[in-house]
Amino acid sequence: MPFRVGSGHDTHRLAEGRPLILGGVIVPHTKGLVGHSDADAVLHAVTDALLGAAALGDIGDAYPDTDPKWKDADSRLFLTETLARLNQMGWKPVNLDVTIFAQEPKLGGAKAAIKTSLAHLLSLPADCVNVKAKTGEKVGHIGRGEAIGAHAVVLIQQGEAAR
Ligand code: MG
Repeated sequence: MPFRVGSGHDTHRLAEGRPLILGGVIVPHTKGLVGHSDADAVLHAVTDALLGAAALGDIGDAYPDTDPKWKDADSRLFLTETLARLNQMGWKPVNLDVTIFAQEPKLGGAKAAIKTSLAHLLSLPADCVNVKAKTGEKVGHIGRGEAIGAHAVVLIQQGEAAR
């Protein structure tokens, strides 16, 4: 049974006046992420990991930020469309591991909701999705609270048994 692994990484700048959306979940905070779409760094990293595993390029190829169509787009669309592309090729996710890098807010209380959201979006059992949170140790752009980053690793499987 063929397997592939993919990784994805994303960072977005934090600013006031935006909702903070991570993994499709609105996380209470005084600032949110800035981007052409809803700037959900977690979903962008997961989408890139899926594209990478299937050798389909990157999220910028698929959803260019120069296209007004994606202005303020709900990033769940990027993920579900990408998953549909993989499904058409016979690929199905096996498991997902995500790390979120944020000095603020503390994500301990949000991790469970983000995990549930990711499992739902990928049609995976909850025990096949993991969400970790790290601070920036108060150094660098993340540690200073200027940005939030996310890293994702996904395993996909192709074949009859995967469907
Ligand atoms: Mg992004």
